[in-house]
Amino acid sequence: MAKLKIVKYGDETLRRVCRPVDKITPRILTLLDDMVETMRDANGCGLAAPQVGVLRRIAVVEVEEGNPIELINPRIIAYSGTQCEEEGCLSLPGEWGKTVRPAHVTVRALNRFGEEFDITGSDLLARALCHELDHLDGKLFIDRLAKE
Ligand code: ZN
Repeated sequence: MAKLKIVKYGDETLRRVCRPVDKITPRILTLLDDMVETMRDANGCGLAAPQVGVLRRIAVVEVEEGNPIELINPRIIAYSGTQCEEEGCLSLPGEWGKTVRPAHVTVRALNRFGEEFDITGSDLLARALCHELDHLDGKLFIDRLAKE
């Protein structure tokens, strides 16, 4: 595994729409491993591929230590409720702000074996999933700051 460089705010990579993964190659598996390592090293609870300079629909989320969730071609299939909590981003170190997100969200994605699965999360997990999926469409949490 290798630690990757995290792209910082101002780099246009963060504003691009990512392409779906059509084939899960060894390269994609290595990317997933490296993204988990990079996320952990940076003490983050999520990381999206464009944050390491790869414009593919891939993200990792880990809100429960030791239980990283790898998401390939993820999409939100259901959501409900709202929450408004403080949010940050590894690409915007030191920046924090309150954003409005669904309280509960269900995401459908492929795992590293190409199998479809659904993950349902509430609170922090819901927020992390929404935050990382936003990255795949070039959106950042600062686009969603709650009005005080
Ligand atoms: Zn982020």
